[in-house]
Amino acid sequence: MSKLVRGFRDIFEPQSNLFTELENCARGVLRRYGFSELRLPTVEQKELFVKSTGETTDIVQKEMYSFEDAGHRQLAIRPEGTPGVVRAYLENNFTQAAPVQKFYYIGNMFRAERPQAGRYREFEQIGAESIGNSAPAADAEMILMLKDIVSAFGAKNYSVKINSLGCDKCRPLYRQALIDFLSQEKDTLCENCQTRLEKNPLRVLDCKVDGPRFSGRVPTMTLCPECQAHFEEVQCLLKGKIDFMVDPMLVRGLDYYSRTVFEFQAGDTSQNAIAAGGRYDGLIKSMGGPATPAVGWAMGVERVIASRGEVPVPPQKSVYVASLGPACHEPAFNLMQALRQAGVRTEGGLFDKNAKGQMKQANRCGAAYALILGEDELAKQEVTLKDLTSGEQKQLPLATIVQEVKKLV
Ligand code: ATP
Ligand code: MG
Repeated sequence: MSKLVRGFRDIFEPQSNLFTELENCARGVLRRYGFSELRLPTVEQKELFVKSTGETTDIVQKEMYSFEDAGHRQLAIRPEGTPGVVRAYLENNFTQAAPVQKFYYIGNMFRAERPQAGRYREFEQIGAESIGNSAPAADAEMILMLKDIVSAFGAKNYSVKINSLGCDKCRPLYRQALIDFLSQEKDTLCENCQTRLEKNPLRVLDCKVDGPRFSGRVPTMTLCPECQAHFEEVQCLLKGKIDFMVDPMLVRGLDYYSRTVFEFQAGDTSQNAIAAGGRYDGLIKSMGGPATPAVGWAMGVERVIASRGEVPVPPQKSVYVASLGPACHEPAFNLMQALRQAGVRTEGGLFDKNAKGQMKQANRCGAAYALILGEDELAKQEVTLKDLTSGEQKQLPLATIVQEVKKLV
């Protein structure tokens, strides 16, 4: 028998309902903020991620599922959504016609990471990208929108951290200061960070192994006046609307971020980021488009769900239809359809089984009521309604049974 692939999952009810609930919650909020849904392909050219996510990132170097197809194309199964959004934006000439765009996407992402709680090889992200607005208001709007989604869903005990990574003017100085500082500790860095040190020293701070021990010791960033003003205004717009803290250690694992970065965290494991994002003013130009500012985030659906904890969902009451003889099968089947058309959650139709077998299934599937149609009932144009909790039963006219059941469930 074939087995599930490591790091991948089957998600049954009631767990699967939580995904739908969060998606619905997010759609409602995103729409209110003026975002429109973009459905993206799962497969893109591998080069797209190498260029945008970044050649030196863990995602591209170690985690990406890439392959050559029969037409010798080098492809990748998307590890994240932003590169696809930007590709679609550029390819469809939004830059000319309508450069300011707000998109959201909902979809599964794929990364060959070491599976553990909250870290899977296929996971769902809800992401939003606000393209064409360089104002601090866009950053603040994105952060508040994210908060609206997670709090509407009922996520608890999360904290919000923000930071600024500066721009091409001020980041190189910080980068060098960081290289100088980290070089003194080079021997003690993990294998990955030894390589990151030269290529992308900021990412050492984001390392699950090395990052935490540098907390409070690393040189801090001095922003240029423009970046400083931008960051201050973002904070000013957020004040009083969301609890947040500035964390100079907060950097992001992807190459393309500039200025504001933020993370929503819950819990204290290394899988504590429930959502993260930031500004990426240089990305669109680096992908061949005109210089276009943008800010975005992506939320880990599984992690947001986990951060809410268990919330008992009241089971939706359902009805089970049983038929006690060949002559009753068709009217019983018609009754099932009539109930469903009337909006009642209806199961049944296991007519090859005897009465006992059908009632056993009615209990197994958690139905609140059974509707039993036997030859006697049929002759009188009636049906037996049985309350499966109390065991009480009564006969009711077939003609009005749908209305009666609707009142009960
Ligand atoms: P982490 O630091 O946990 O590896 P990341 O920085 O790689 O996260 P992003 O690329 O920013 O994550 O993706 C946004 C969100 O997607 C994360 O904040 C997290 O909630 C979720 N996420 C990322 N990787 C996984 C995964 N392998 N399994 C489940 N959720 C994930
Ligand atoms: Mg990661």
